Amino acid sequence: GRPIVAIVGRPNVGKSTLFNKLVGRRISIVEDTPGVTRDRIYAPCEWCGHTFLLADTGGIEMKSDDVFLSGIREQAKAAIDTADVIIFMTDLRSGVTAQDNEIADMLRRSHRPVVLCVNKADTLGNTPSEVYEFYNLGLGDPFPVSSVHGHGTGDLLDHVVELL
Ligand code: GDP
Ligand code: MG
Repeated sequence: GRPIVAIVGRPNVGKSTLFNKLVGRRISIVEDTPGVTRDRIYAPCEWCGHTFLLADTGGIEMKSDDVFLSGIREQAKAAIDTADVIIFMTDLRSGVTAQDNEIADMLRRSHRPVVLCVNKADTLGNTPSEVYEFYNLGLGDPFPVSSVHGHGTGDLLDHVVELL
């Protein structure tokens, strides 16, 4: 079947916003309601002659704060297990968080190809200095994008399809 590219990351970094932007339709719910766990959502996506299924791991949101971290781990693991390439999404505005580090550990152990995406880089122009902190995740070059505006998504996808 078609290769699967999964967008993984903690809640609120903008996974569903990127998903909708890349798919070109509003399929995923942005601003997920806390307490609602949903299945992964898939949609076909095409870039430079490559077709793949893009997966939004919308179900990463938890039923309650108590199971927050374990829920993230379960969902992220399930998504990682079925993905050919993983887009690991983080948030420029919050910087690297403890949850980002946990997910990064899991991804490094998975030995799957990962593209590190730093979302909410809304300002066009030079790479903001805050992006360099994300090298500490040990997952290679961070790709700054703005999922709302679409900045940087072309470079991100160029790298994703190289890894397919
Ligand atoms: P998810 O939980 O990771 O799926 O995150 P969502 O896609 O639901 O987005 C969470 C919030 O971040 C929403 O309010 C989005 O509008 C906002 N957001 C997503 N991408 C961007 C972006 O590139 N720039 C800015 N400024 N906000 C964004
Ligand atoms: Mg979402």
